[in-house]
Amino acid sequence: MTTLAVKSDRDFLIVALDFSDQQEAKRLVESLNSEITFYKVGMQLFYSAGWPFIDYLRSKNKKIFLDLKINDIPNTVAHAIGEICRRNVEFLTLFTNADSVKAASQKVVELGSSLSLLNVSVLTSDDLGSQTSEKVKERTRLTLENGGSGVVCSGLETEMIRRQFQDCIIVNPGIRPKGFDSNDQKRIVTPLGALQNGASHIVVGRPITQSEDPRSVARSIWSDLG
Ligand code: C5P
Repeated sequence: MTTLAVKSDRDFLIVALDFSDQQEAKRLVESLNSEITFYKVGMQLFYSAGWPFIDYLRSKNKKIFLDLKINDIPNTVAHAIGEICRRNVEFLTLFTNADSVKAASQKVVELGSSLSLLNVSVLTSDDLGSQTSEKVKERTRLTLENGGSGVVCSGLETEMIRRQFQDCIIVNPGIRPKGFDSNDQKRIVTPLGALQNGASHIVVGRPITQSEDPRSVARSIWSDLG
């Protein structure tokens, strides 16, 4: 397992840039300014704006979480990871099995890259009822045993995972500050709840991106976090 890539508290809050229009995404980045140092670029924006948008974030000295949830046969995954390692991003998501996590991690080591590979455990929009905890635990174990750096899981499973795996990166989406709509997310926690449960990072999308005043929402999250 690689060591934690990110330690600064300022990197705790990652904003999900779920836009198709890169101009809209850039406007948000400009307006959030120094409040946010870390951005998540997912399938929507990456498929529409691609690497030039990643270069733009880099030019603004931002850290980048590329959320592509990669899954394929080990050979294809390893080659895809090789391409991403040549770019400058901090986190990348896989959504895959043990053999492909292993192939991906070996490629990261082979290229001497500092990329952290995170595997998605269970989507925060899914609820597997009583099986959720076991499934998250099993996927975390599989990920770490095969060289991944951490997992993406809901804040509800984070305490259990942190107790068992102290060094692992744990990223929580499904974050809702008090009073915000849960939208399609089913397993949500507050920013402070995620921190207290042991998350290393939280991902916040719509509460900030859909707000009339994104900067003040970001500020109020920081103030809740103390
Ligand atoms: O708008 P919201 O805060 O719900 O956005 C959450 C972000 O985290 C979205 O970009 C979504 O794709 C991502 N995500 C998630 N659940 C996971 C993995 C990623 O919601 N398990």
